[in-house]
Amino acid sequence: MSQKYKVTENLLTVNEFSRPGIKLKKVKGIVIHWVANPLSTAAANRNFFENRKSGNSGYGSAHEIIDLDGSIIVDIPADEMAYHVGSTKPYTDEAIKYLGSYPNNCTYGIECTHIDWTGKMTDETYKTLVHRVADLMQQFDLVGAEKPLWLHQEVVGWKDCHRWFVNNPEEWVKFKNDVNERCEMALQLTEQWQWDMLYENVKTLREKGILNTADWETKVKNKTITVHELVWLNTIIMKRLLEK
Ligand SMILES: [Zn+2]
Repeated sequence: MSQKYKVTENLLTVNEFSRPGIKLKKVKGIVIHWVANPLSTAAANRNFFENRKSGNSGYGSAHEIIDLDGSIIVDIPADEMAYHVGSTKPYTDEAIKYLGSYPNNCTYGIECTHIDWTGKMTDETYKTLVHRVADLMQQFDLVGAEKPLWLHQEVVGWKDCHRWFVNNPEEWVKFKNDVNERCEMALQLTEQWQWDMLYENVKTLREKGILNTADWETKVKNKTITVHELVWLNTIIMKRLLEK
């Protein structure tokens, strides 16, 4: 998994304002946030959460933050609660239906850095977000769940977080499709030997001039090919076998 994105753990000090140290219930949803501070780094946002321990800037945190360069800082362990979707107003009907009366206790929060006030992310941040969420969906056994992915706004109803997805609903749909495609891919090839075999096949096809670029080998090596690409590749491989 490490080829897809880099993860650094830099845990917050346990404190009442940002890392309460309470165990999380079974994760029912992953919530996507923006940091609401253009060009600020994951490290800076992690330190902001850490400094909340003084009690001077209220409650709030998330489990991890994706940097502008696509790397991740995990600051709260996946089995502990973060304060990322608390609200003084009533939760949405949808949130109550799927997440219960206190969504903080059964959700995992991801903060995304961004380049401007529209919330637009770098390509690196977006790519990591897709791969990371797909991996977490499998880790939390959420693949195939009815409503596994949430915007902060969908939980609380009033906050424009993650702003980019709130204001560009078609991008939110595309994001969920991208994640699903990654999850389907993981269901197709679950064992390393399957990836190794695919890699060997793709390499052979390139050496024989059937594929004209090494990009395919890179995609297979990094496990970043999509289900549709896999189907297409398999067709080429089958055709080649039949010609023998
Ligand atoms: Zn948020």
